[in-house]
Amino acid sequence: MPSSGGDSIKVAVRVRPFNQRELNRKAKCVVSMQGNSTTITNPTNKETKQFSFDYSYWSHDGYVVDQNGRLIQSEASSRYADQMTVFDDLGRGVLQNAWAGYNATLFAYGQTGSGKSYSMVGHGSNKGIVPITCGNLFRAIDEAREGDKELQVTFSMLEIYNEQTRDLLFNKSQHKSTNLKVRENRDVGFYVEGLTQHPCRDYNSVEQLMEVGAINRTTAATNMNATSSRSHMVISIKFKQIFNNDLGESTMKTSEINLVDLAGSERAESSGATGDRLKEGSAINRSLLMLGTVIETLATADPKSVVPYRDSVLTKLLKSALGGNSKTVMIAALSPADINYEETLSTLRYANRAK
Ligand code: ADP
Repeated sequence: MPSSGGDSIKVAVRVRPFNQRELNRKAKCVVSMQGNSTTITNPTNKETKQFSFDYSYWSHDGYVVDQNGRLIQSEASSRYADQMTVFDDLGRGVLQNAWAGYNATLFAYGQTGSGKSYSMVGHGSNKGIVPITCGNLFRAIDEAREGDKELQVTFSMLEIYNEQTRDLLFNKSQHKSTNLKVRENRDVGFYVEGLTQHPCRDYNSVEQLMEVGAINRTTAATNMNATSSRSHMVISIKFKQIFNNDLGESTMKTSEINLVDLAGSERAESSGATGDRLKEGSAINRSLLMLGTVIETLATADPKSVVPYRDSVLTKLLKSALGGNSKTVMIAALSPADINYEETLSTLRYANRAK
């Protein structure tokens, strides 16, 4: 049985290629990777810090970083990690766990623009870990859909903004879709009252729901004059296996997979926030901070420590899928550029707490 620390928490870091803005500013590369170790160099004093994670994903195929932060061609380059590699390393284990009846949480952390959505949702035909995981789940279900076994999948999608919840898949008959209450029940633990649960028969229905949810997330943010990078998005897939025997008895195995695209981790003060923005910043940071604290506490694997799930909406909702027999996967998304050095270092430190 997996313990709460060690194997049940996997931490990956993934550095994205330079974006146009960084290229225009002739930014230097401050991140380098070798095997599963990741090194960051302070662009001012050239001091280096090294971290090691379960996986370090490189995006500059055939290139390494020289002392001046330039990318130079080299055969010693780390392996380029495409979406399928990331799924093979991290998503497959989550799926196996789900078939065994255990829960899982997979989340992406990092500053806005560092590649969280790319890793989770993907970009165009470069599907991310969420659609690949869902596609593989339904493929396996189709193969297993025979005999005395019933398989059911329900899908929900919500966002947390300022410690308030919003159903991203509400339907018009619902009398309320925002600020839904988080309640606790002895059987199911924490849940969001009134959150719509959508039964899915196949991968296409999941894909459609994800599209609708993404549109609702952007629309909601625009209406509030904000960007979706300030909210946490939580997709929850509930998977139920019902086994019926000849005597008319049935047993059940359930599991929940949570896929979380976190708000940008940039600190409120660095964007010159005041008033409402500051309050919003600290509410976002509360969920991010508490998630970090919860995972750090779980990673110490001390059964006596109290895990502070109750201290934020996000950690309440993830409680049943973090720790214990659950699998937790964190992808820390990094910019390669010197201009983002401080944020990238703080992301590496956050990821390092989870080990
Ligand atoms: P975030 O969700 O953290 O705000 P995005 O996922 O939107 O960031 O990524 C910002 C940009 O960088 C997007 O254009 C995305 O396609 C690109 N990008 C991010 N990660 C990668 C990657 N690993 N490989 C290629 N392009 C990437």
